[in-house]
Amino acid sequence: MSASSRIPPIAQPFVGDRAKIALDLVEDFVERVCIPAEPVFSAQLGHGRERWNANPAILEDLKSKARQMGLWNMFLPKNHFSQGAGFSNLEYGLMAEYLGRSRLASEATNNSAPDTGNMEVLATYGNDSQKQLWLAPLLKGEIRSAFLMTEPDVASSDATNIQLSMRREGNEYILNGSKWWASGVGDPRCKIYIVMGKSSPDHIDPYRQQSIILVPVGTPGIKIHRMLTVYGYDDSPAGHGHVTFENVRVPASNLILGEGRGFEIMQGRLGPGRIHHAMRTIGAAEKALEWLIARVNDDRKKTFGKPLSAHAVLLEWIARSRIEIDAARLIVINAAIKIDQGDAKSALKEIAEAKILVPQSALTVIDRAVQAFGAAGVSQDTPLAYLWALVRTLRIADGPDEVHLQQLGKRENSTRKHEIIPRLDWQYKESERLLAARGLKSNL
Ligand SMILES: Cc1cc2nc3c(=O)[nH]c(=O)nc-3n(C[C@H](O)[C@H](O)[C@H](O)COP(=O)(O)OP(=O)(O)OC[C@H]3O[C@@H](n4cnc5c(N)ncnc54)[C@H](O)[C@@H]3O)c2cc1C
Repeated sequence: MSASSRIPPIAQPFVGDRAKIALDLVEDFVERVCIPAEPVFSAQLGHGRERWNANPAILEDLKSKARQMGLWNMFLPKNHFSQGAGFSNLEYGLMAEYLGRSRLASEATNNSAPDTGNMEVLATYGNDSQKQLWLAPLLKGEIRSAFLMTEPDVASSDATNIQLSMRREGNEYILNGSKWWASGVGDPRCKIYIVMGKSSPDHIDPYRQQSIILVPVGTPGIKIHRMLTVYGYDDSPAGHGHVTFENVRVPASNLILGEGRGFEIMQGRLGPGRIHHAMRTIGAAEKALEWLIARVNDDRKKTFGKPLSAHAVLLEWIARSRIEIDAARLIVINAAIKIDQGDAKSALKEIAEAKILVPQSALTVIDRAVQAFGAAGVSQDTPLAYLWALVRTLRIADGPDEVHLQQLGKRENSTRKHEIIPRLDWQYKESERLLAARGLKSNL
């Protein structure tokens, strides 16, 4: 069965013929080209320090193949941007699920984070010169980029805490401070940092104190202090860096949108892109389920005389995984349709639901697959250990679960209480009236 014939019925009316063709191409590209190329990528990365200078040739091969197939920049939805491949957010979401099955596929098709969010920023808020200098090469996949917001000394999930100092002097800003978890800074192809700093620390409105500025890589005063690991994985060559800024001078014209507009950009960053991680994570969960099914049917590895598939508990894992993935996919599809019909702002509830539910469901599925493989499941011999680490980080990196839960809970409570309480009150009184009219007393 092809990918297009597996589109859930609820999504079918929203998917055009061109997207169905592309979806089948994406599946083919991921399964037949990208996944078999993963060991080549790993071998070309090499070992030790050379991993940070590597530009694995296989990736460029995959990129040119993807371009030939017309699989390029699908992430920029047609309702919101003119620079993309002309698909809706939902159509891309269905494709992203397949991209999430391979660690190479997103970059091979120029749909990988953090470049996607950074391209959205430049396309939405950049001026003509910024677009020409940075957006154009990013769209072509010629360079890569990083987004530097999180800082080691403050709780960065509350962005009002951001401290990196941006002081204006003449036609320049002078940057001093420290950032970490800057994904992509290790990559030799990373040429531009999008940096959030505090330009007006005394502004009365805490949401107008921050600005966002473009800092070319190699500007004097920037130091990549160290690279961080994620459960031991270095994620090279892109990696996640701890970067320090010491009297870094940047032209004031590099400011995006204007001074004090940092929060506005942050809120707009990842407009439609806010659920890209969730979309890909569905694919990661599907992949884990496939490995689980492969393991329980491995006749070489029987326990107590039976293959694992003959043990009821394993079949229950498969069933539960199927249900959880399908439910998570529907949540993502719903959010994608809502974004297509309006914008990310009008879909905050649906986006939060996807961000909270999808990584948790996927982790449960991946963990079952790890367990079914026994010790092999935690090793490099299956993709499961890496998938688990990758998806686990999303519960922090894509905004901590607790922040999404708090926002969703607040919104649900404040929007519904005014309707629910009077209705329940009315129902109670109406029951009293019905009982009294019949001369009855409640026996409940
Ligand atoms: C793999 C990876 C890649 C990343 N890439 C980037 C990147 O490219 N650029 C970048 O700028 N950052 C990046 N980050 C950082 C990420 O955005 C932050 O880690 C995240 O925003 C949380 O900030 P923090 O780590 O400072 O945690 P804190 O803000 O200190 O929060 C710690 C914990 O406090 C709890 N908490 C926070 N708020 C609430 C609340 N309202 N209610 C209850 N509990 C709460 C949560 O459990 C949370 O996990 C990345 C992180 C990871 C792991």
